[in-house]
Amino acid sequence: MTVVTTLPDRRLLLVHAHPDDESIGTGSTMAHYAATGAHVTLVTCTLGEEGEIHVPELAGLAAAEADQLGGYRVAELAAACAELGVTDHRFLGGAGRYRDSGMMGLSTNQHPRAFWQADLDEAAGYLLATIREVRPQVVITYDENGFYGHPDHIQAHRVTMRAVELAAREGLAPAKVYWTAMPQSVLEAGMTHFEEASDNPFAGISDATELPFCTPDKEIAARIDATEQHAAKEAAMRAHATQIPATSWLYSIAGNFGAEFMGVEYFTLAVGTKGPGSGPYGWESDLFAGLGVGESPHLSSVSAAGHR
Ligand SMILES: [Zn+2]
Repeated sequence: MTVVTTLPDRRLLLVHAHPDDESIGTGSTMAHYAATGAHVTLVTCTLGEEGEIHVPELAGLAAAEADQLGGYRVAELAAACAELGVTDHRFLGGAGRYRDSGMMGLSTNQHPRAFWQADLDEAAGYLLATIREVRPQVVITYDENGFYGHPDHIQAHRVTMRAVELAAREGLAPAKVYWTAMPQSVLEAGMTHFEEASDNPFAGISDATELPFCTPDKEIAARIDATEQHAAKEAAMRAHATQIPATSWLYSIAGNFGAEFMGVEYFTLAVGTKGPGSGPYGWESDLFAGLGVGESPHLSSVSAAGHR
């Protein structure tokens, strides 16, 4: 059975743990692909109920107080997506199905709705339904350590990889799965730059390899230069005002490094074949490199394989 869809030729699915992770980690990439006509789908796994609150007048929303932060962050995420030009956003299993587990080891990990407690196949099943619908060629999530060890990020990794495995059994395997990463050379340049700064985000770190997300340059597969979208990414981050203080070093580093800090994002390739690239390590400049899908959005046909 062949179904004609109005989705663009290039379809990108991102799976993130909490509202704000999409903007901080992959905001420029999302904005870049949305602006160039790809279909960008964001799946967020929790509402981020356990986040700290950096807006004093909203402190009462905290989990230990009114426990209203999650609902508030739904609106922050919607505003961020609008800044990124992303119109297809979903919560895994629907808003509120899974709760923010909090940092590793906290009692919040044990909450009955905590994402850390999720049944893997049930959660992967929700994502599989989205994969069936959107048919992404490219999927982005975190590495097995969840980039930095937060339980919900680790779980997002597990759920995504399981959903990809289930999709493959139906003949719907995405061509590529990427994990977010930071090249060692980029971190080292940042450490040098901030050595003397009073707000040094690398304080206490003597070697970039101590950082859990530090990745040897030769293991990086793609460098997405979306510097043209750096302002959209910063605006999306500012939409998450409860999470990122206006005085954050993230914004000062942006001021120091210019568009590149906000606008360039890096990925390792976990599944699929690397396309043509350049530089000493053959980094791809396009996540769809080598897939033979066009740049221009038009009607495309996809086989439904009986799983609508
Ligand atoms: Zn997060």
